[in-house]
Amino acid sequence: MNHSYPWLRSIARVISFLAACTLLGFYINELTLILLIGVFGLLGWHYWRLYRLNHWLWHSKKISPPTARGIWSHIYQGIYGANLKSRNKRKALGEIIRRFRQGSEALPDAAIIVDGCGDITWCNRLARIELGLSWPDDMGKKVYECINDKQFVSFYHANSFAQPIEIISPINPNKVLELRVVPYEDEQLMVLFRDVTRLTQIEKMRKDFVANVSHELKTPLTVINGYLEMLPLNGDVPEPMMVKAISEMRTQSLRMQSLIEELLVLSRIEASTERAFEKLVNVPQLLWQIQIEAEALNRDRKHKLFFDISPILYVYGNENELRSAFSNLIFNGIHYTPNGGVIEVKWGLEGKQVKFSVKDNGEGIASEHIKRLTERFYRVDKARSRTTGGSGLGLSIVKHVLSHHNSVLNIESKLGKGSTFSCCFSPEQTYIVEKPIGTL
Ligand code: ADP
Repeated sequence: MNHSYPWLRSIARVISFLAACTLLGFYINELTLILLIGVFGLLGWHYWRLYRLNHWLWHSKKISPPTARGIWSHIYQGIYGANLKSRNKRKALGEIIRRFRQGSEALPDAAIIVDGCGDITWCNRLARIELGLSWPDDMGKKVYECINDKQFVSFYHANSFAQPIEIISPINPNKVLELRVVPYEDEQLMVLFRDVTRLTQIEKMRKDFVANVSHELKTPLTVINGYLEMLPLNGDVPEPMMVKAISEMRTQSLRMQSLIEELLVLSRIEASTERAFEKLVNVPQLLWQIQIEAEALNRDRKHKLFFDISPILYVYGNENELRSAFSNLIFNGIHYTPNGGVIEVKWGLEGKQVKFSVKDNGEGIASEHIKRLTERFYRVDKARSRTTGGSGLGLSIVKHVLSHHNSVLNIESKLGKGSTFSCCFSPEQTYIVEKPIGTL
């Protein structure tokens, strides 16, 4: 667009117009009148143009300017050009805001922008979901009134934002949110909330785990220490006392050993990166071996043990892990069933799936305990479980093994009637052999 205007030509035009008026004035001998008419005509024409400009600026919906000539055409084009420029700028600005909004909506955290007076000026979608803010109703409200958490309110007023804090979600008491305040220019604050429920759970599990392991190891160590302190360093020890001390210390050290072995098994399974489905496991053979061990364990308990094992069903998996899981379930049946009970172990097809189950008619488990049984160190009756030598890790191992084999542990139990522990393997994971290898 040409920005310079031919002023000289325009002035020349006005001068020529006035010269023509002067000539005409001389000619008809009315110079003053004709000049006045000419000047007022010129003025009127410009006023008319000003009126059109004003109308276009304030009342017309048209963006393009009305047609005009001379200086007015130049002015219209100038205004129109400036208008277009600012429209484009506004468009670009709108695009930047839209992108910023999209970016902040994609944030994995809930975000709120607060001004120097504590008023909410903006929040993203997650803030509405996680903190229960409603938009635009909460715009301009005080942030500490909308998130009415005692800890947050005092943190906000303390005005010291170096460290994040953790608060309970205002809309879900089971959620923990980490809150971080980032001040930026013009006293604006960005308040970010991150869901750290899982992290706090893991941290709690870690603390519980350390406390549990220490507790489990402390008890046998205390017993061993107690006996060691009772035994004189030199001099004779009465034989009955010696026998009791040695036997008790042996039991306790075996307990510690088995606890540590189970912990190692558990951590090995958890850390295992081995693909479970590469090797075919001869499960019938494995269960017959466990049957021999179970019968030895059952010698004093006098349970009736029934093993119903299909010899043709193999599974793709890890033999040691499966041995550990199946033996844990079978030995638990023996341990937690009063003497003379009935324990049935089955390995066979159920529909298209292959099912392993251990059914006992023991004491059963109350429903409130069932969902917690696979937690580490969880025992229904701690005192009783210790006398059986249980560490509370067995079912935790079973759960991990089964999850490594894409299966889950099902527990059905009725107090006083008995329990059934079972798991299934999908047809893709199993293999039906034509000629079974080996029998009991
Ligand atoms: P433990 O080493 O103490 O046996 P487990 O993880 O194997 O630990 O079992 C957890 C708890 O589940 C046991 O302490 C026991 O209270 C309960 N439990 C396991 N199996 C049975 C069962 N067949 N009948 C009754 N209770 C059982």
